[in-house]
Amino acid sequence: MALRPAPGYAQHYAFTHDDTLRGTITPERAWWDLAHYHLRVRLHPEDSTLSGSNTVRYRVLKPGQVMQIDLQRPVQIEKVEQDGQSLPFRRDGDAYFIQLKKPQRVGRTESITVFYGGKPRVARKPPWDGGMVYSRDKKGQLFIATACQGLGASAWWPCKDHMYDEPDSMQIAVTVPEQLTDVSNGRLRSVVKNSDGTRTFTWAVVNPINNYGVNLNVGNYVHWSDTLRGEKGPLTIDYYALAETADSARQQFKQVKPMLRAFEHWFGPYPFYEDGYKLVEAPYLGMEHQSSVTYGNGFKNGYRGRDLSGTGWGLLWDFIIIHESGHEWFANNITYKDVADMWVHESFTNYAENLYVEYYHGKNAGATYVIGCRKLIRNDRPIVGIYGVNHAGSGDMYYKGGNMLHTIRQLVNDDAKWRRALRGLNKTFYHKTVEGRQVEAELSRLTGLKLQKVFDQYLRDTRIPTLAYRFTGNTLEYRWTNCVDGFDMPVNVCLGESGPTQLLRPTTRWQRIPVRDKTLTADPNFYVLTQLVTETAPSAQTN
Ligand SMILES: [Zn+2]
Repeated sequence: MALRPAPGYAQHYAFTHDDTLRGTITPERAWWDLAHYHLRVRLHPEDSTLSGSNTVRYRVLKPGQVMQIDLQRPVQIEKVEQDGQSLPFRRDGDAYFIQLKKPQRVGRTESITVFYGGKPRVARKPPWDGGMVYSRDKKGQLFIATACQGLGASAWWPCKDHMYDEPDSMQIAVTVPEQLTDVSNGRLRSVVKNSDGTRTFTWAVVNPINNYGVNLNVGNYVHWSDTLRGEKGPLTIDYYALAETADSARQQFKQVKPMLRAFEHWFGPYPFYEDGYKLVEAPYLGMEHQSSVTYGNGFKNGYRGRDLSGTGWGLLWDFIIIHESGHEWFANNITYKDVADMWVHESFTNYAENLYVEYYHGKNAGATYVIGCRKLIRNDRPIVGIYGVNHAGSGDMYYKGGNMLHTIRQLVNDDAKWRRALRGLNKTFYHKTVEGRQVEAELSRLTGLKLQKVFDQYLRDTRIPTLAYRFTGNTLEYRWTNCVDGFDMPVNVCLGESGPTQLLRPTTRWQRIPVRDKTLTADPNFYVLTQLVTETAPSAQTN
């Protein structure tokens, strides 16, 4: 998702027992591996409740008889069954501990069915402060959706609500009043008209899917489709918009195919050909729901009509179509295990915006865009959050993270190699959940560079590395300050008024080279500061 205007949702540092139950791979989670979810949900719009069940198929990895399933209050689990037998369970906050009766043999695949119901939390400020979103179209017809990134999927359905484990596939059956249509993830398998004035829409996802990616969108939808001849063959594209906005949507959604082409170029094939790509109008700004990206950007270019970069380049495309779809590669294909590594989703996707601009408007335009986004960097706290307690790091994971990747590209200094590395990440971690450290190591491997200090500086520290320099006679002296121990990132500088750029390899110790001119400018593509050190008073200059 795109950065919310206010600070992130996880500002608190006093972690509770509930945070640990949510954020840790508890023993009651670790012994079983998700294979499949079959979720059935019936919406009762008249009183904003829902009821349903989830059949959880799992593989037994190691001995265990107690299973943790999460479901957030006020929604409640009513009954749990295995092989038709009812199972006892105990609730601890939003976690349920189910006592299995049958011996769970290692290597076997088993399933339980969890029956539940209640009135899920209504989103206060979707998608950032999420839950159920209830709205109406201009004719007064219901327009309902879910948005639960951060909050967790267990706000509206019972599941293993930790990102490390994804089911290999999923079926989502949503029952709604018959005049409405549900759009969820994957492909529509069937629509069944029930005798009670409802219809059931069954959607099948045949790829691993992350928890918060699962969604329902219910409204008076109009549907049209298209096909992209993509890198892996024909990719079906399906569009859903409210009848009343369909004309604007048909126009604005034309950006989808060029977007997919640009991202396949940079990142490799769209990661979910089997499930297709969908763009679905929703009653909130938007979200990267896997294979059914949701859209509520008002059919205008920019972010709600504004250019976040302030450079003009952000007004040539629809921020929500480009950004949320970029997440199909970084969030849905490569998914963080722990929300502390949310930068893996947001830094790469912010950076994807600049690559999109570059693909259609050239390298300078892309660079101008990402550099323009620097004004939004706060350097308030580290980008990496706290592990094991469902805690995300600073909102700097967007614009600073994007600028970190842009800086790394300068270090690679080989566009073909850089593109291979971005595609390589999507290959190595295809349909995987990862730790941020794995992404760091793989990017170092793919580029052949030692990037550890660079990651430590930009992800784990709030200081902007500063190139301190001074001229003594015909000598330039320089070193890194305001940086992590051992920071040794090379940097391009321009010496003299308009001289050629040259690569310096500063460390935290003074080094010197002979020079003729007494001016230095760092290449603005690097997210660094420079500081001329004089005997009297140092002056700082920002790129
Ligand atoms: Zn995002």
